[in-house]
Amino acid sequence: MKKTVTLYPEAPVVDSLDLDALAPGTRTRYKVRLVTNAVGSWTWVPVMVARGCAPGPTVVVAAAIHGNELNGIPIVQRLFAGLEEDKLNGTVVGVPVMNVPSFLDNERVFPGGRDLNRLMPGTANGDNAEMYGHRLMSRIVNVADYMIDLHTASFGRVNSFYVRADMCHPVTARMAQLQQAQIVVHNEGADGTLRAAAMERGIYAITVEVGDPMRFQRGMIRDGLSGVRNVLADLGMIHQLSPEIDDDYVLCHKSFWIHSDAGGVLVVHSDLAEEVKEGQRIATLSNIFGDELKVFHAPEDGIVVGKSTNPVSPTGARVLHLGIAGAPENVCQIPPSLAARIE
Ligand SMILES: [Zn+2]
Repeated sequence: MKKTVTLYPEAPVVDSLDLDALAPGTRTRYKVRLVTNAVGSWTWVPVMVARGCAPGPTVVVAAAIHGNELNGIPIVQRLFAGLEEDKLNGTVVGVPVMNVPSFLDNERVFPGGRDLNRLMPGTANGDNAEMYGHRLMSRIVNVADYMIDLHTASFGRVNSFYVRADMCHPVTARMAQLQQAQIVVHNEGADGTLRAAAMERGIYAITVEVGDPMRFQRGMIRDGLSGVRNVLADLGMIHQLSPEIDDDYVLCHKSFWIHSDAGGVLVVHSDLAEEVKEGQRIATLSNIFGDELKVFHAPEDGIVVGKSTNPVSPTGARVLHLGIAGAPENVCQIPPSLAARIE
């Protein structure tokens, strides 16, 4: 029989997630309403919840808090397509789009220009973006024990498949390792990010950068999905063969962007995940007549985490995101599995 697909699927409209009200072994879709506009229309956030038959942790997988960073959307969708709630321990909450207004506008930032991922956890009594952020946190993210925040590079830039996580914390270090990424950057999380706001509330959170904005990339989506599933398996929530963790990712104790101190036309020569040596030529800036203005050199040995692909470069434009390999100072013992740590 032909499967009927509803173009506009009905889902319960709710003001917040109440996971305890869900029967074990069920799956539900919600529209969690957050804010209204001037004509009283709600902006709601799509949320998928699979509650397992057996108890276990709650993992939130969040995508597109920057509205044009799209590879996380099919990761959440495919994750749910493969979940079997009768064999699931614990609860998985998938949010394919966190920042709905920006997603609809094909924009990274919230209408009005605020970056939602710099103002988290928002404020209960703030401007439109701050209240949206606050409600995202209090109505959805707060249910999590663990969170994976899926991002991509910004417009005009490309990223390697890399993770940002506190590598001095055994849980987030293990979660990062399970992504099997090319690069892991130790970073405690800048103020205002969703990850930092979650960690502040005792939710173990990592940020996974899955490729480039405004497109779906098959390989990145497959790798990102595999990392999320590895975390669920490692927590004992789903049954799959234990992931073989290889240690051939490059761990960076810090990373930084190299900016251009002049305007011009930029060409970056280094490839993603390329290991560069101090003094190596990484980019060239020319004037609009084609004369070479400046050659950028790597300030120290490092690995290319991300880079600009946009030749149009005003003063201050980002050139290249350089990771510096090495373990962070307060290195932790990474547990053999997340489940082992819970027991
Ligand atoms: Zn982002």
